[in-house]
Amino acid sequence: MTEGLLTTAYIAASVLFILALGGLSNQETARRGNIFGILGMAIALTATIAGAQVTSYGIMAVCMVIGAVIGIMVASRVQMTAMPQLVAILHSFVGLAAVLVGFASYLDPESNFTGTEKTIHEVEIYLGVLIGGVTFTGSVIAFGKLSARITSKPLYLPARHWLNLGLVLLCIWLGVGFVGAESVSGGLLSLILMTLIAFAFGVHMVMAIGGADMPVVISMLNSYSGWAAAATGFMLSNDLLIVTGALVGSSGAILSYIMCTAMNRRFLAVIAGGFGSAGGVTTVEGFEDQGEVVSITAEEVGQLLKDSKQVVIVPGYGMAVAQAQHIIFDISKKLREQGVDVRFAIHPVAGRMPGHMNVLLAEAKVPYDIVLEMDEINNDFPDTGAVLVIGANDIVNPSAQTDPNSPIAGMPVLEVWNAKTVVVMKRSMATGYAGVQNPLFFKENTRMLFGDAKSSVEGILGTI
Ligand code: NDP
Repeated sequence: MTEGLLTTAYIAASVLFILALGGLSNQETARRGNIFGILGMAIALTATIAGAQVTSYGIMAVCMVIGAVIGIMVASRVQMTAMPQLVAILHSFVGLAAVLVGFASYLDPESNFTGTEKTIHEVEIYLGVLIGGVTFTGSVIAFGKLSARITSKPLYLPARHWLNLGLVLLCIWLGVGFVGAESVSGGLLSLILMTLIAFAFGVHMVMAIGGADMPVVISMLNSYSGWAAAATGFMLSNDLLIVTGALVGSSGAILSYIMCTAMNRRFLAVIAGGFGSAGGVTTVEGFEDQGEVVSITAEEVGQLLKDSKQVVIVPGYGMAVAQAQHIIFDISKKLREQGVDVRFAIHPVAGRMPGHMNVLLAEAKVPYDIVLEMDEINNDFPDTGAVLVIGANDIVNPSAQTDPNSPIAGMPVLEVWNAKTVVVMKRSMATGYAGVQNPLFFKENTRMLFGDAKSSVEGILGTI
């Protein structure tokens, strides 16, 4: 493939990636966005493989087949509830790839950079390996936390901010030694030491994040993986990788900012790893002091819903676990046919990944115009007859507003307790992801419908 054709293909792929991101920002255009993304990636891969840089087709074919088989197997088997940890582990691959490409570029015997070009190339390698290393181990820890293999409680080492600062300064010092090194072997030691520090930093940064702050970490690691890819693009002099990495990096950064706003956290504080988080002890015990919970049956809930003029359904992670979205949609349809005004309220961090609930409701074909964001619906709860909370917990926890020592203090929540009656569907009195007990369950106007959310909604559907 000629240089001109390659550049044209790369520009076409970049445009398609931008259109993909634009399409994915809205449910109605998301499908089209995905198609643009797939097309862009197909063009990018074909052009890169046909480019002059690739010489060993045999090795590439074997690697692509192995990668494709693993990818297809994992993607077809993964449960919807396991998507967040899958995304996290995929981010770690991008980070690891940046580290490996960095080392390979540095050790490449055919590399013939001199003077300023050599310095620029080494800075690219150093930064690429640094960002890649942090992304790699940070994402592995995020994978562990999201899949409950590692506790979601924050790990606070003594003087952790000083430790972080020390590690950053050490990296700068090693970087100066790396770029100024006379020989490859001299620079290699600095690069290896910095890589180990980057690995440790990634672990420490994500271990210090409490359960409730994890959404910010997911989007932040998404952003880091983009910058790692862009750095890889610089090392390989691949313009498309630079553009694509920058797109992912900046859109991930914007998403992190949106998540921070949604959770009332300071962006820089979260990036620094646990800065500013309350660090409060979770209050799992002691809920017996809060009063009694009142149970309700599925038939009673059915009657309550039919008798209400306004109903709001609040889905949370438990709806994803129970896969109850289709039946909940059937309930909403039946109620609307009977003249009840039914709407869905989505909290920005409901579930375990950004947009989790929107995806599930779209899959169940819930019309978009009855799905409202938290800010659009929070003021309507006082006029709402019944709220159905299905498998949600942290996002409807009033202690975020009332307990300054709570790990979720300050996080905006759906103020469902202002409605006339709130029905909470869950299996037990267990806490949500943040590990905080929820005073909502003990309020006078709250009724608990215990059991798996799918059986509960099936029971309700049978009575309306
Ligand atoms: P929560 O994790 O707070 O609560 C979910 C509730 O669902 C649990 O209390 C559980 O109670 C219940 N549940 C689980 N399975 C079932 C089932 N089969 N049937 C009925 N109930 C079930 O979820 P929320 O959506 O309210 O809040 C999200 C939390 O996750 C926040 O803390 C957020 O910060 C965090 N997070 C969000 C991410 C994102 O990007 N959206 C990423 C990472 C973390 P029980 O066991 O008693 O049934």
